[in-house]
Amino acid sequence: MKLKPAAFIPELLRHLFKRPATIEYPFEKLKVPDDFRGTPVLKSELCIVCRACVRDCPAFAIEIETLSEEEKKYKMTIHNDRCIHCAQCVESCPTKALFMNDEFEIATDSRLKLKAEYTYTRPKKSGQQSQTG
Ligand code: SF4
Ligand code: SF4
Repeated sequence: MKLKPAAFIPELLRHLFKRPATIEYPFEKLKVPDDFRGTPVLKSELCIVCRACVRDCPAFAIEIETLSEEEKKYKMTIHNDRCIHCAQCVESCPTKALFMNDEFEIATDSRLKLKAEYTYTRPKKSGQQSQTG
């Protein structure tokens, strides 16, 4: 079948006045959807150290170390170089202490830079606690 050049003109004119489907990345950033699965982040003040996230992470990307049993002091390490961004840890956490941020530019020259560490004290019933990192 032979196409006539004029057949394209209406389509061409329609697209002349449409907003482009692409953006000027990296000068302009795409707004990601609300349920975008970026990188897991800990809100340590909500962590009760139940270790459900450690148990359920399919990539073995979360570790919790006990620093002091008496003081209820812990260190969580999230190995983002292993994380597959599945958000299972967020699903499994009973206190909503984990959430996925909206970061997508996480490429780096060393996998060690992807390690996120949180040192914190487990909240008492009154909700008292401290955090570093
Ligand atoms: S998002 Fe998935 S892979 Fe990453 S730490 Fe959570 S459970 Fe593990
Ligand atoms: S982040 Fe949530 S699931 Fe993980 S140990 Fe803390 S309370 Fe438990």
